[in-house]
Amino acid sequence: MLMATPLNQINNGGMIGRMGRVGSCLSECIFCQIASSSSTSTTLLHSDDKVVAFRDINPSAFRHYLVIPKQHIPTVKNLQRSPEDFSLVSHMLDVGKSLLHRDAPQSKHYRFGFHQPPFNSVDHLHLHCLALPFTPSWRFIKYSSLGPLVGFEDLETLFNTLRKNVHMSQIIGI
Ligand SMILES: [Zn+2]
Ligand SMILES: [Zn+2]
Repeated sequence: MLMATPLNQINNGGMIGRMGRVGSCLSECIFCQIASSSSTSTTLLHSDDKVVAFRDINPSAFRHYLVIPKQHIPTVKNLQRSPEDFSLVSHMLDVGKSLLHRDAPQSKHYRFGFHQPPFNSVDHLHLHCLALPFTPSWRFIKYSSLGPLVGFEDLETLFNTLRKNVHMSQIIGI
């Protein structure tokens, strides 16, 4: 027979951490405002029950979009190796890819990835989706892999590594 665990014994980081990051509205977070459509100055390119997408305010490429979860997840380090987070990131990637394929079908190269803290600009997880070329061209530096912990890696690498049981935050970001 299964015993129910008393709530006061569930004190592991996973459970509490998971609950703790669910913020209905962090009013000071600009991306939460965008996700909840309370920022009227931002045009949403895509919106569903999990994510929204919009243009980067300071584009670094021919097309440069951000896909963010509606849920406030601060950074890539807060992602967990769970089916839930894996499918969330897959979905973010799918949305980004379909928008870029629609809006920049002639681009030969695309790039998708996360900035790893402290190099992230906003503490609300956002997937950078770029259709190259970079504009201006030196911007490529910001979105290039600089090493194992400070690079900007394509998400294909992320998913391959996830299958090898390595935590997401160890391999993606800038
Ligand atoms: Zn937020
Ligand atoms: Zn960023």
